[in-house]
Amino acid sequence: MKVLIINLPRFQGSSVTREGRCEFVCNYRVDTPATLLIIASLLRNRGHQIVFIDANAQNLDFVKIRNILITKIPDCVIFTFNSWIIEHDLKISEILKRINPACITIGFSWFAKNFPREILSRFPNLDIQIIQDPFSVIESIINCLAQRESLENIKGIAYKENNIIKVNSKFTYEKSFKELPLPSYDLIKSFKPYYLYTPLLKPYALVYAGKGCPYSCAYCPDANTKYSGRSANNILHELKILKKLAKIKYVWFYDQVFTINRKRIIELCEKLINENLKIYWFCDSRADLVDLQLLKIMKAAGCIGIAYGIESGSQKILNNMKKSITISQAINALNWTREVGIPTQLNLILGYIGENLNTLKETENFVRHTLPQIMQASFIIAMNGTEFTKIAIENNWISNNIRWQERITDLKIEKELYEPFQLDLINEIKILYKFLYLNPKWWINGFKSLIKNPQLILPIFGTILNRKRSIKFI
Ligand code: SF4
Repeated sequence: MKVLIINLPRFQGSSVTREGRCEFVCNYRVDTPATLLIIASLLRNRGHQIVFIDANAQNLDFVKIRNILITKIPDCVIFTFNSWIIEHDLKISEILKRINPACITIGFSWFAKNFPREILSRFPNLDIQIIQDPFSVIESIINCLAQRESLENIKGIAYKENNIIKVNSKFTYEKSFKELPLPSYDLIKSFKPYYLYTPLLKPYALVYAGKGCPYSCAYCPDANTKYSGRSANNILHELKILKKLAKIKYVWFYDQVFTINRKRIIELCEKLINENLKIYWFCDSRADLVDLQLLKIMKAAGCIGIAYGIESGSQKILNNMKKSITISQAINALNWTREVGIPTQLNLILGYIGENLNTLKETENFVRHTLPQIMQASFIIAMNGTEFTKIAIENNWISNNIRWQERITDLKIEKELYEPFQLDLINEIKILYKFLYLNPKWWINGFKSLIKNPQLILPIFGTILNRKRSIKFI
């Protein structure tokens, strides 16, 4: 089959990331569409003809896409869509149907997976929505379409048949990340448009070393998902390909928790040091999954940034969140990371159940004490499928007056009904940013770090500029 795989256009001029749990619109990064490139590899291996367009990277709008597609009419199209801008993203199915009414449109989104009936009826030109892991099911869908067979036996999808919406049962076996091929990077025309934090920080690629997270954080839509990771050799192989193809210098390992398997990370770091690939990389981790020895080897292997979702400086709130870390683990992680010279990003969530003036003070003290290089503070939202959302529904904190489009992303919590939202959290976020960026010690630490690590200048200043924009936004 002739399959078009498309990363959809930007939204109002801003870049869009549509990678699993991370669906966002921003002005500070353009990510390589790793998920779509892995799907391209799966289908190529089955002999299908792939046309790949990264409209987000190339800044092609829907008009330009239509003009391109008129000459390359596909049999079917596969895309990820961003639930926050679903009306924008799903215009693609309408455009394709106008060019070729027989073209089958297949879309998926992590956040939209629980709303197939609403989505398929709202968007009549979307034929198939994948509602589980797309890697586990995409080959069966395309093979079925190629054979003109019914989709009724394909689990994990919703589709239309004779204008009737059918939601098939879910599958229990999910492909492990080890079973997946590497992304088809050769389909990318040029790596020039991709960058992280600042357009100067490139050539850049987003890479998955694994996926899933077995932890149970109550606010997280990724909680309790099965973890599977690729071997150190396999990750190294991908990095070598990227180096050869695009001279990649910066990578973001997009795993939920990169250091979940300490032994594998040490093995990967040793290989990176031996190979001297000169790739600098960022990752996400947990405070209880790092130690000084591990951080030292990560630094030597090119790690230039770790984002920690610590979320609160109050042990009471961490316990309520089921975060399974202690404040002393969090302090150690941030201090050790700074000690070895890796910049830290501290992520905070304010307003969780039990938040009050005392717990906010504890978070202020935590920030003052740890002085992370970068901080991202936001307040709790009731994301679809989380334990927090379940509690919010049970306690009637949720507004009744919401459309299904809003329910896909987050349920609106009524300020009057949910006690922590009666605190001035927006002002608290401003206070936290001020604590950090107006603290002379934070600047001194930052300069020391830059002198030791000149390669950090671009990421750090790019990130600070980005935070400045966030403050303005808030
Ligand atoms: S560790 Fe991170 S990814 Fe895992 S459940 Fe907690 S917040 Fe989610």
